[in-house]
Amino acid sequence: MLDDLKAVAPSRLTGHMVLDMPAAPLPRGLVGTFGYSEQEIEKEALRLQYAIKQPMRWSIEVCRSLAPMTLEINRLKREKDVFLIAHSYQTPDITYGVADSVADSYALSKEARDAPQQTILFSSVRFMAETAKIVSPHKTVLHPSPDAGCSLSDGISANDVISLKKANPGVPVVCYINTSAAVKAECDVCVTSSNYLSICEKLEGDRLIFVPDRFMGSHLQKELSGKKDVLVFDGECEVHAEFTGKKIRKWKENMSENGIDLVVLSHPECDAEVLKESDFVGSSEVLKNEAIRLAAKGKKDLMLITECGTADRVLAETNDHLNLIGSCVMCRHMKRTQLEDILQALRDPTQEQIIDLDEDIIRRASKSLDEMFRLAE
Ligand code: SF4
Repeated sequence: MLDDLKAVAPSRLTGHMVLDMPAAPLPRGLVGTFGYSEQEIEKEALRLQYAIKQPMRWSIEVCRSLAPMTLEINRLKREKDVFLIAHSYQTPDITYGVADSVADSYALSKEARDAPQQTILFSSVRFMAETAKIVSPHKTVLHPSPDAGCSLSDGISANDVISLKKANPGVPVVCYINTSAAVKAECDVCVTSSNYLSICEKLEGDRLIFVPDRFMGSHLQKELSGKKDVLVFDGECEVHAEFTGKKIRKWKENMSENGIDLVVLSHPECDAEVLKESDFVGSSEVLKNEAIRLAAKGKKDLMLITECGTADRVLAETNDHLNLIGSCVMCRHMKRTQLEDILQALRDPTQEQIIDLDEDIIRRASKSLDEMFRLAE
C-alpha cells in the first residue's frame, strides 16, 4: 500500500525525517582545512549534525566536509563584526551552521536594522537583500549570490507598475514584499503574506491594483468581492505554483484510506484551490511554528505545502516525533547560495555583492513600507 501512496504523494515520511528532499550540498571545490585541527573539525561537525537533526541526509561525513567552512565563516563574522541573516529557505548548513538569525524576509530586515553591526550579510535572494538595504540605508548590505533571483520579483518591473498606474489613474497600487526596490518605489503600500488582506481592506476607494502575485490577488478578489474591485498582475511563485487543489485532495484521500488523518499546512502564495483544501494557511515562519505546536500536541502526520526549507526548520526545532509527509518543492533561486559564496563575500565582496540602491529609490520604497506599518496597526 505504501508503494501506491508513493505514486501520488512523493513519499510518506515516518520518523523524524524528510526523505524526498534533495541531498545535502557538498563543497563545490577543494576547501582545505583553513588551518583548523582535526579535533576542531570533528567538534564542529558534531555541532552541525546535532543542530540540523537529519542524520541520514546530513551524515557526519557531509558535516565533516562542511565544518572547516562554517568554522571559517563564523571566525570571519566575529573578526569583521558582520551580522549574518538567512531566510528560512536557505539550506540547513547555512541556517544552523553560520546564521545569527533565521526567519522570513521582512522580520529579518527589521532585525538587520536593529542590530548593532554596521555590516549585514543576507543569505537569500536579491529582493530580500534590497529590502534590508531600504530599511538600513546607512549600513553595508552584502548579498553573496547576486544572480539569485525570484520568479515573483523578477516577473514585474517598475515600468509595468508605471503603465498600470497610467491606465488606472488614482487607483492605489499594493505590492507584495516579494518585489524589487524599484517596484516598491512605484507602489503606494507594501504588504506581507500575513497582512495583505487586512491592509487591502483598509485602503480607501472601491478599486485597487495588486502586484505581482496572481494567487494572492485572486484570494483578495474573492475576499473583497462586493466591496472592492481588485486588478491583479499575472505573476507567480514558481515553487508554490507547483501545488494544485487536485493533488492535495488526492494525497489526503490516500492518507485517509491508510488511516492517517493528515493535517495540511499551506503558504498563501499557493493557488486558492490549494488553500481551500488546507487546514491552516500562513507565512513560512507561521507554518513552522504551527507544525511545531501540532507536533507537541501529538498531531504528528503533517504535510507542508511550501518550499523544503520550512520542513528543514521544523525538523531542527522540535524534539517531538512527527511524520512529515513528503510534499515540499525546492526553490532553485534560494538554493543558489552555498557556504562558499558566503565565505567569499565575507572575505572580499565584489561590487555586485554589495547592495547599492539609488537614494531616491530607497526614499520612495521606504514610504511604501512605512505605509504598511501605519495600516498594519
Ligand atoms: S520560493 Fe518563490 S517567492 Fe520565494 S524566492 Fe523562490 S520563487 Fe521567489
